[in-house]
Amino acid sequence: MAMKTIDDLNVRGRRILLRADLNVPLDGSRITDDGKIRACMPTLTSLLERDAAVLVCSHLGRPGGAPDPAYSLAPVAARLGELLGRPVPMAADTVGPSAHTAAAALAPGDVLMLENLRFNPGETSKDDVIRGGFADQLASLAELYVGDGFGTVHRRHASVYDVPARLPHAAGYLIQAETAALQRLTRHVARPYMVVLGGAKVADKFPVVGSLIGVADQILIGGGMAFPFLAAQGHDVGLSLLDGDPDTARAFLDQAARSGVELVLPPDMTVAAGRGGTAPAEVVSSTAIPAGRMGLDIGPESAKLFSATLAVARTIFWNGPMGVFELPQYADGTRAVAQALADSDAFTVVGGGDTAAAVRTLGFRDDAFGHVSTGGGASLEYLEGKPLPGLAALEDDGGTG
Ligand code: ADP
Ligand code: MG
Repeated sequence: MAMKTIDDLNVRGRRILLRADLNVPLDGSRITDDGKIRACMPTLTSLLERDAAVLVCSHLGRPGGAPDPAYSLAPVAARLGELLGRPVPMAADTVGPSAHTAAAALAPGDVLMLENLRFNPGETSKDDVIRGGFADQLASLAELYVGDGFGTVHRRHASVYDVPARLPHAAGYLIQAETAALQRLTRHVARPYMVVLGGAKVADKFPVVGSLIGVADQILIGGGMAFPFLAAQGHDVGLSLLDGDPDTARAFLDQAARSGVELVLPPDMTVAAGRGGTAPAEVVSSTAIPAGRMGLDIGPESAKLFSATLAVARTIFWNGPMGVFELPQYADGTRAVAQALADSDAFTVVGGGDTAAAVRTLGFRDDAFGHVSTGGGASLEYLEGKPLPGLAALEDDGGTG
């Protein structure tokens, strides 16, 4: 089934609920990477230029279903206003009296930011009735729904999944661009196709390793992802992060060997006694991480090996930093992989909230890559071939739009 886009919607003079993913990294109230806000601008400006009245909604962090000022979207509304060149007013709640009053007062071309969706337990509830009740409230604020929060399309949440069942809907330009780019990793893939995986949410990402064996030609494994594999090979990983299950990693190694896919592990590791950045770092063989040390970055040999391997790829997907890049002394591996992608003629996709933030922090421009995805979990689940609730909900609805 096809997905309507906002180009197919008659939006003039209509009130639109725009579900964006504005879950940006914050340091207190300072936005450390505004990539997700910039990514929603094409859709937002198109709707406003076409005289729609737009209510922007998003989640931010995990406030746990109740209002918490630490997770207010106010800094996001301020940044959105800077990018738009005019202030973006903010409702004090999501579906309460403030939101209703402000929504009713919107004129064509006006924009309003609603407060954090996750201040309401209904947003993420697993109970269809509770979630549906919140979706009813959200839907009552608008006449049309536009889904553009690609980073949350893998979530069966009220604003992602249930509201589009209640309103005529379409996909925004970000979702369109993201799905178009990711499709190039699932159909008619140019080979060799190499995947680089790292990061810290290893257990979450394990399912995609299984489904990529058999699809990718080589899988390069760094960051926190490396340790369960090293442990599966019988090596001591010291105090390193061990998030994924070594038994599962062993099964992946066997599966890869059977299907002729190469899993490339880092031969060396930069280690220290703690991840605070004050303990002195040293480079050791990955097969000899001393007790009392933790691997915090892939080592220089690994960076060289990964770069050389990636140099012959024609398609590259990368998710997960190679080390604790937030500290400059552990950013070299991540920088080397970013540089390898930037130098490559391959079609390159960088996915993952922290990975995208990492390449920007390290000074790479988005246009150094084929595509920088705003979605970590969403892009991985897309590659796994899982049905994504937020995309399914945006498919054509028999012309009610
Ligand atoms: P993404 O958001 O791109 O999917 P993750 O959330 O899985 O990535 O992981 C990002 C985090 O991984 C970063 O904060 C980084 O510090 C951490 N990380 C990378 N390598 C290591 C490591 N060796 N040990 C501990 N944490 C690591
Ligand atoms: Mg992350």
